[in-house]
Amino acid sequence: MHHPENKKSSEASVLDQDILLVEYPVMEHFYTIQGEGYHTGKAAYFIRTGGCDVKCWWCDVKDSWDAEKHPLIAVGDLVEAARSSGAPFVVITGGEPLMHDLEPLSLALKNAGMSVHIETSGSSPVSGHLDWVTLSPKRFKKPVDEIYACVDELKVVVLTKKDLAWAGQEAAKCRKGTILLLQPEWDTPESMPLIVDYVKNNPGWGISLQTHKFLGVR
Ligand code: SF4
Repeated sequence: MHHPENKKSSEASVLDQDILLVEYPVMEHFYTIQGEGYHTGKAAYFIRTGGCDVKCWWCDVKDSWDAEKHPLIAVGDLVEAARSSGAPFVVITGGEPLMHDLEPLSLALKNAGMSVHIETSGSSPVSGHLDWVTLSPKRFKKPVDEIYACVDELKVVVLTKKDLAWAGQEAAKCRKGTILLLQPEWDTPESMPLIVDYVKNNPGWGISLQTHKFLGVR
């Protein structure tokens, strides 16, 4: 998907070989199945960067929060691992991946022929060559305004009714045609009937489930 605000490859300020040497703190990277959202069920290579300034209390990857706990890995090594897996696309997630400048990593992945997806809370400015942007905003750490123009999929985690009202406000900021999904928080089963009712009354929305937890994959 084209995002006019993303820089074109030809404008990249660093040479390809230099890009490959740039390092990111990475908690884990692995080939798996995308478990959530619009691309659920598709094979994807996940790169989970370290560092998150959002700190949701229900977060299931709290180990990712402190970037300094994680090794620095060079773009070249990440791209080679993703390319050799055979994955058609890479999901950069976190942590909060936009705490890092994603220009070098995303450009190198695209140069290697892969599409680049990102899952973000939108707490930091947008960077990189992004083919698919999933915004999962958090009420207590509002997204930067610039992100709404490049969101492909809005995925709101729901715990209470307040989250549903807020989801509607966030959707109003997104472009027409943005995929709208509500996702129950895994350990808050009482959110499920709320979501079912909401989607029946607001059929522009759909439901995203964390299917990787059912499948037993990461
Ligand atoms: S934004 Fe994501 S990684 Fe950060 S605390 Fe929330 S759920 Fe965890």
